[in-house]
Amino acid sequence: MSETRATVLIVDDQPTNIHALASLLKADYRILTATRGEKALELSQGEQAPDLILLDIVMPDMDGYETCRRLKDNETTRSIPVIFVTALDHDKDEEQGLNLGASDYISKPFNPAIVRARVRNQVNLKLKTNMLEKISLQDGLTEIPNRRYFDQKLAEEWARSSRNDQSLALLMVDIDQFKPFNDHYGHGAGDECLRRVAQALRRVPTRATDLVARYGGEEFVVLLPETDTRGAQHVAQAMLEAVRSLEVTHDYSDVAPHVTISIGGAIQSRQHPKPSAEDLKKAADTALYQAKTNGRNRYQGEI
Ligand SMILES: [Mg+2]
Repeated sequence: MSETRATVLIVDDQPTNIHALASLLKADYRILTATRGEKALELSQGEQAPDLILLDIVMPDMDGYETCRRLKDNETTRSIPVIFVTALDHDKDEEQGLNLGASDYISKPFNPAIVRARVRNQVNLKLKTNMLEKISLQDGLTEIPNRRYFDQKLAEEWARSSRNDQSLALLMVDIDQFKPFNDHYGHGAGDECLRRVAQALRRVPTRATDLVARYGGEEFVVLLPETDTRGAQHVAQAMLEAVRSLEVTHDYSDVAPHVTISIGGAIQSRQHPKPSAEDLKKAADTALYQAKTNGRNRYQGEI
């Protein structure tokens, strides 16, 4: 259980204050520390971002207010709760902090019981929010991202690829003859098949920015930033092979004695420009239809 401990980042220009807070909290939380606002921003965007930030207000260079403003301006750090820690105890300061999006206040000198209680409240709230977000963006059956998450990512990656003039590949994946599979083997086996295919597909792309999501029913979708026609074809062929090699028996398929998939791909690039992300999806869908028409168990790039 120790590895699931929440992480608290303590930011204060005085190491003695950091030590005082850390000694109160280290039994219950993983502690990160920073003596400067810039360092706090950097740690908050890192791999192991904190679940809560205790932020001193009076610091040289970037003060706590400015640090908080920047945290709340950034999409990746916005949802991390901030508790201001301050010797200033005027209502005006407290109001300013809360207006910047801080969640709470702790005043110096510290009252240990109050520090622990306020930290616990905010951390619990954050962990609940994390769980709800995770549930709502993940497909319950296959445990890969769902369509809602995919649509968010597609919008982001579409904007990024346009901004940076980079290509973006989208693959639509469909399990061949899934209806007869379900009809003959039952829905339990159908669900198990979906889970196995999802996990096999997910293991193919290797970059952190690549995304495999369940689009609905027996359909999956793959988003590959900075990927050209050849790259998309390469990933698609690896996915076809990954599903074939699961060797899930399918005696009611006229394609193969085991479960197979068909894939349609489309690229957004200078050579193949599309007016919108929706058009990229449509192009991939048309290619998928073509792959089915051509006999399934194959990849078809956009025509
Ligand atoms: Mg200070």
